Amino acid sequence: MTSSNIEQARRIRTKNFGNALRLHSVIYPIDFCTSGCTYCGLSTLLAKEGAHGVRGAMRPATFDWLIRELADAGYQIHELVFGTVAEDQDLLTKRIVRWVERARAAHPESYLIVNCDTLHQDGYHRLKDAGADAIWTFMEVMSPDIYSQKHRSGLKADQAQRLQAPQRIRNAGLAVGNALLWGLVPDWKAELEQFVAWSKEVGGFDFVATPVQQTITLPQGTSAPEGFDIDPPLTISLDLYLEICAHLRLAFPDAHLVANTRLDPDFVYGKVSEITDMCNGYVWTGARSHPAEQLVSIGHIKSDTTQMNFHNPGADATAIQQICPPGVTVDLSFDGRRTAIG
Ligand code: SF4
Repeated sequence: MTSSNIEQARRIRTKNFGNALRLHSVIYPIDFCTSGCTYCGLSTLLAKEGAHGVRGAMRPATFDWLIRELADAGYQIHELVFGTVAEDQDLLTKRIVRWVERARAAHPESYLIVNCDTLHQDGYHRLKDAGADAIWTFMEVMSPDIYSQKHRSGLKADQAQRLQAPQRIRNAGLAVGNALLWGLVPDWKAELEQFVAWSKEVGGFDFVATPVQQTITLPQGTSAPEGFDIDPPLTISLDLYLEICAHLRLAFPDAHLVANTRLDPDFVYGKVSEITDMCNGYVWTGARSHPAEQLVSIGHIKSDTTQMNFHNPGADATAIQQICPPGVTVDLSFDGRRTAIG
């Protein structure tokens, strides 16, 4: 990618999204999963080895308090993240519906994004009825052989039914998000090509996220099963992340492109935001190291499972604005919950 491509990506961002950098909160109501992905600190493969740092589910009262706290700080968009919290899609739907209803009740005007494993058609209708506005279901990796190596068990192992999820989500009247996990496959360009081709087959995406795999920290005295991706197969440097985001912006000019602060937040808010138009703000993790009943202070969350390892900018968006480059304006406003953001 040349610097002129990066320039072009910036121009597209400004043309289609203006200066606004939308911030959303990220909340993991449950940090427990029954899937065996080889790159995730919540993987049941780690649980079997005793290398698990999960807490379980948030207390409902804590969840209600948190949503209201974030709403008071101005956050209008919330992403609720669920691993596979059941082996069966109907049970998964039932559990997620409960949290969506809670979020909707605590913050009626918000835009609610649910990040969860794939569901049957009926499950998406139930989430829509519960008050969800968008669903993100990350494919992480496209190449079928690599996909099956990385997803050893659980609902996520069935790539074929996950590939059809975007149509089911849209059929239910929900906006659609997806993503690859950068760092998981060395040949990232081949993955990107397949991702872009697939997105066209399934009617495009409203959101494209940009998660990055990082080294997993295991609790002392524990180990991971053989072949588990403790270290990313490809290290994503800051420059490579910028390049990937620029490629994605050119491929998805109209989609909300969502940056990720597992990398240096000064770089992500301060430079990548000229290409991406959304980013996480406050992140509430279920990891044991996250305080149960208060917001964490500014900085990286020290987590025993790096699935949960984000920079946390605090709930105050003005601190993020100070990091942004001139011409990028942090925007928490949201105009109506039943229309697309933007
Ligand atoms: S990536 Fe998601 S589905 Fe896979 S183990 Fe982690 S939380 Fe579970």
